[in-house]
Amino acid sequence: MGILCDGENKIKCQRCDFSDIRALQIDHINGDGHLERKRNNGNNKKVYFSIAFRMNKEEAKKRYQVLCANCNQIKVYEDNQRGQIWKK
Ligand SMILES: [Zn+2]
Repeated sequence: MGILCDGENKIKCQRCDFSDIRALQIDHINGDGHLERKRNNGNNKKVYFSIAFRMNKEEAKKRYQVLCANCNQIKVYEDNQRGQIWKK
């Protein structure tokens, strides 16, 4: 997760700065996490592995961000409000 955060190697939520790693999650910025899980047969570890080892930092940051569980849930709600999720 470290490559998704700037500065001091501190991993934290990109919305609210919450930094307890137990509640941090990788968010798919474009809301396409369900597609990616499908491609990887539901294997999230594979997804995280490819972020950590196969992508360069700039590419990863375009597609993913670190959010805490609260902010991630709020974002899902907001995306639903806009009708963007599950459409693809
Ligand atoms: Zn947060």
